[in-house]
Amino acid sequence: MENTGKKCKVVAIANQKGGVSKTTTTVNLGIGLARAGKKVLLLDIDPQGSLSASMGIQEPDKLEETLATVMTMIMDGQEVEAGYGILTHEEGVQFLPANIDLAAVEVSLTSAMSREYMLKEYIETVAPHYDYIIADCMPSLGMLTINALAAADTVLIPLQAQYLSLKGLEQLIATIMRIKKRINPALDFEGILLTMVDARTNYAKEIMEMVRGNYGRRIPVFENHIPLSVRVAEASAEGRSIFAHDPKGRAAEAYSVLVEEVLAHGR
Ligand code: ADP
Ligand code: MG
Repeated sequence: MENTGKKCKVVAIANQKGGVSKTTTTVNLGIGLARAGKKVLLLDIDPQGSLSASMGIQEPDKLEETLATVMTMIMDGQEVEAGYGILTHEEGVQFLPANIDLAAVEVSLTSAMSREYMLKEYIETVAPHYDYIIADCMPSLGMLTINALAAADTVLIPLQAQYLSLKGLEQLIATIMRIKKRINPALDFEGILLTMVDARTNYAKEIMEMVRGNYGRRIPVFENHIPLSVRVAEASAEGRSIFAHDPKGRAAEAYSVLVEEVLAHGR
């Protein structure tokens, strides 16, 4: 399998707050890009394995080949065979699952040599086969998230519209800027994406204005936002994308626009 474009773009989906739609955005953006004809690999970088679950894996903890075993091989200086651990979803994306073993990997990373670059080393081996690699980060700013940001071209920050934690966002941006300065100077922002926007409230507009006012000069904020929709949660519970589950709904429309925006950003 060869990559259809020039160079692969690596996007990290990150926010240290849980439940802000990181995994859901990874799945729907990834499948949306695949529907647009791109070769896409999703990486589950969360020991909870939620991305793997959203891809239809019932019991991630029973998997033999995961990101945890890949990271262990890289840390041990072993070569990872082409295609090792990678699974294919029926909607055309490929993914590398994760499970609870990744928690132990995060601990051993702390004392590994070049510990920030282990994931990057792996990504460089698979990148020639893809147009996009999307990394679904865990809800922390620990070593695994740092590894994802060290390997990424851009970071997309999903922000839950209901409760804006400006302090949390400050901390996330400060971490990203530190990584940019010391570890990955080429790291850029894909943008801040407002998620789970409840159309019945005015929060979204206020929050969007607040975010633009505070960060808009430094960080792009997606024009489009993702609505709060029970269809989105149903789709991930069924191991499918919103495009398969409710193709005509508002959420599918919003994710299509997001895919277009990301495609328009190019590399
Ligand atoms: P994170 O990865 O940031 O922890 P998830 O993507 O797992 O967040 O989303 C948290 C929960 O919210 C999940 O149950 C998911 O199905 C649900 N969810 C995500 N996005 C939406 C949305 N736009 N509308 C309704 N529910 C959503
Ligand atoms: Mg998640």
